[in-house]
Parts: sequence; C-alpha cells; structure tokens
Amino acid sequence: MAFSLIGDDTCQFIAPTPLPDPYWIAVSPEAAELVGISLDSNQLPQDPDWLAILAGNPAELGQRLFSKPMATAYSGHQFGHWAGQLGDGRAILLGELNHQELQLKGAGMTRYSRMGDGRAVLRSSIREFLCSEAMHALGIPTTRALSLVGSKQAVRRETMETAAVCSRLAPSFIRIGHFEHYAANGLHVRLQELAAYLIEAHYPECKSSNTPYLALFKAISARNAKCVAHWQAVGFCHGVLNSDNISALGLTMDYGPFGFLDHTALDHICNHTDSGGRYAYHRQPKIMHWNMACLANAMVPLVEMESPGQDAAEILRAALSDFPPEYEAKWLTLFRGKLGLQIDTPDDMDLIEALLQLMHANQADFTNAFRSLSKVQKKDAHSNWRDQFLDRDAADAWLSQYRTRLQQESNSDAERAAQMNCVNPKFILRNHLAQRAIENAQQDDFTEVNRLQRILSRPFEDQPGFEQYALAPLPDEVVTDLSCSS
Ligand code: AMP
Ligand code: MG
Repeated sequence: MAFSLIGDDTCQFIAPTPLPDPYWIAVSPEAAELVGISLDSNQLPQDPDWLAILAGNPAELGQRLFSKPMATAYSGHQFGHWAGQLGDGRAILLGELNHQELQLKGAGMTRYSRMGDGRAVLRSSIREFLCSEAMHALGIPTTRALSLVGSKQAVRRETMETAAVCSRLAPSFIRIGHFEHYAANGLHVRLQELAAYLIEAHYPECKSSNTPYLALFKAISARNAKCVAHWQAVGFCHGVLNSDNISALGLTMDYGPFGFLDHTALDHICNHTDSGGRYAYHRQPKIMHWNMACLANAMVPLVEMESPGQDAAEILRAALSDFPPEYEAKWLTLFRGKLGLQIDTPDDMDLIEALLQLMHANQADFTNAFRSLSKVQKKDAHSNWRDQFLDRDAADAWLSQYRTRLQQESNSDAERAAQMNCVNPKFILRNHLAQRAIENAQQDDFTEVNRLQRILSRPFEDQPGFEQYALAPLPDEVVTDLSCSS
C-alpha cells in the first residue's frame, strides 16, 4: 500500500511525460525478480510494453497496472539551511508492485519542478542505477534500481546532454522532507496520516507502544543510524545529505555526487559543490544525527497529541540522544567483522581507530587495505600487507597489535579469512569506473555499464580476470568534479 494522498496541494496526480524514442540501457534482473516481472538483461530489448512503461510512455499494460501516477510535495534543509518546498520535481510514482513502489526519476515536469525541466541526464542516471544495485549487493539498505532507459532527447545542463529515466523501487519513498513539509505548512492531519501509514505499513512494532509516534521517531532514527554506519564501513560518501534526501525507512537514497573512498582520507569531500565539507566522510554520522533533529522538530505536533500536557520537544530531544549509541554499536559490530574479530574486547574500538588513522596517514586504499587484511596470519610475523603503507614501521607496529589480538580468537586463519572476505568487498563502484562507463555510454556503447553492473552484483567474490576493476585509480583517472548537476 503506497501512502495514498487525496488530491490537494501535497500531491499531484500526473502522468509521466513520454521520453521520445526510448531504448534499453540496462535492467537489474534481481530487482525485476523482487517485483515479479521478468526482464532478462541478456535479451534486451525484448519487451516493448515494459520499455514503454519504464520510459514513462503510455502502454496498455502500464495504464492497467498504474492508473494514478503521482508526484508528492516535500520540503527540507539543504546544506544546513531551511530551503522550503523542493520536490518531487522530476520523480513520478507509478504505483506499487509486490509491496514495492515503482518510481520513475527524470519522467518530466511536475507541479513541484520549480525551475527544472523534469529530466535527468544519462550521466547521473547511470550513476544512480549502478550504485543502487551495487549498494544492495554490499548488503547496505538502499532504494533499488529496476531499469535504465535512454533517449536522444537533448537536455541542457552545463553543456548539452541527453535524457534518461532510471526506474527505482522501494517499499516507500517517503523522506524526512515529507514530515518537514507538512509540519512547516501546519498540515497536522497530514502529519498524522503519514505517521499512521508508516506505522501500519513499515513499522508495525510501534503499534503496541503507548506512544506510537515517539516509537516511530525512535525507529526511524535507529534505522538511519544503522544505515550511516554501513556507509562508513565501506567508505561510501553520500555527497548531499540534505534532509530531503533522507529516507523515512533508513534507506540510502537519491544518488548524486556520491563517491567511495579510494585512498583513505577521512575528511574526503566527494561533492564539488560542498566547499565547506559539511558532508565529508567523517562528518556523515553527525549530519545524519542532525537530520534526525529535523525529523524530531517536524514530529513535535504529533508527540504533543499523544502526550498532552508534557513538553513534546523535550521528549523528542531525549529520544534523539539514542542516535549516537545506536550508530556506535552498529559501527563497532561492522568494523569488528571487517577485522575478523568475533569476540568483543574493550580495546577493539582503539584498534580499529588506530587502523583507520594509519590508513589515513598513509593514504592507503580503503577497500584494498581491508580486503587484504584477511591474508594476515596469526602466527606468521611476515606479511606483505605492510607494503601498502609508506610508513612500514607504523604498519608493522599496528600489525603486531592486531596479531596479539587475534590470539584471543579461536577460529583458524582460513575460517577468519573466509568470514572477512564476506564483509570486505573486493569491488566497489569507484568513480573512475563509473566515469569510463558513462563516457562509453555517451558514445552509445553500453557494454561497460552492463559489465560493471555484473561485477558489482558479486562484490565479495574474487572474479578472476577482472582484477583491474579492483584497482585504485591512477592519478590521471581520479574524478574530481562531481557536482549536484544532474
Ligand atoms: P536534489 O538536490 O537532486 O535532491 O533535488 C532536489 C529537488 O529538485 C528534487 O525534488 C528534484 O526532483 C528537483 N530537481 C532536480 N533536478 C530537477 C530537474 N531537472 N527538473 C525538475 N526538478 C528537479
Ligand atoms: Mg534529492
């Protein structure tokens, strides 16, 4: 059941604007399976009906399945400042399949498009498509991508580009920005309906609480705390952690100028537009906490309703303080796993922090430093793991601490290595790989998009023959100019 809205200012029933002469670029067979439709990436283009639907063009099947497409209004804070109403400027919800909402991004103008043309360019659509599915394969909560459809339709950004539509799936696309929109406009009934919908459909555990709205706030905050811990564990930088890009289900969403760390720079800023580094890698947990404060503010009227006579703001402020421990607990669990540590000891946090500092000081490749750690043996003092570090002595010093710690673990080197290789990926969507796929696609060659998609669907497997996809970029391959332009 999608959050159903009646025809008022908070949503617009609107059909997508057809993308002219669409063609398939990619589909995700796993995402298609999730919604029970059969799209075989080896046989494209094979289904004209679905091509039409996913390009936002009328098709009999589409009209039957999705009779009331709509765009919703949301607001939010951008770069720390209230920005008022923002979306959905170019995302149109077609409807629901198998408990997943199907949304087209870049499907044309809506009432909320402001100055935009309602389209998304090929470049950013490829990035969203590939990263959504890559994050899912990494085990990270995320919206999914079902398909990527291209067109020769010209779109003006800094230069002339072409349009594409990425179709996305999620149990719900509700954002913190929806709460903020209703609260800022005094739409308290809408707020209540939204909270009731989320509890009913996505947070049933809150139903039994004496204060279900407060329970909902805590549950949303906890899910987002866990999500950002996952990002930190794979070196993922979202790039635009505005409150309107934060999911009410704790999913990674709205892939823009994101980036995975290549060399470890804990203060890495992936978004060219973010000159102050508000959304730098090491700030993401604090920023997510800040976004939960935005949600808390928007939920004050709800908590007032269920706890009359009490200080609702104070109640929410207290609940907000659960975020740091929730985040830290998840972070510690994930990083213990990355180091192959099964039992908990009080010094683990320091050991992990020391490793991150070592990697940062030596600009070690984040992904490869963790992946290769599984080769370190408990007894054998020699390891070429140290060779990734300019300061070999510092690497040896950390390794010696690590080996001492490993003595407390009962499993064998081989068992530990197998476990570590299931949580430390070999393949991530490095920006230079995405860039190469994009440049080929701009010349109508989609093989690299498809190849990358296949490799990234099995990030923890060795995949002999594809070693080059696991390498850090060469200096001239580094992508430095990702902005919000999309
Ligand atoms: P973003 O900063 O990409 O998350 O976008 C913020 C809002 O602006 C979203 O609701 C988008 O739908 C909207 N938007 C971005 N680009 C466009 C565009 N080309 N046309 C219409 N709306 C857009
Ligand atoms: Mg957005």
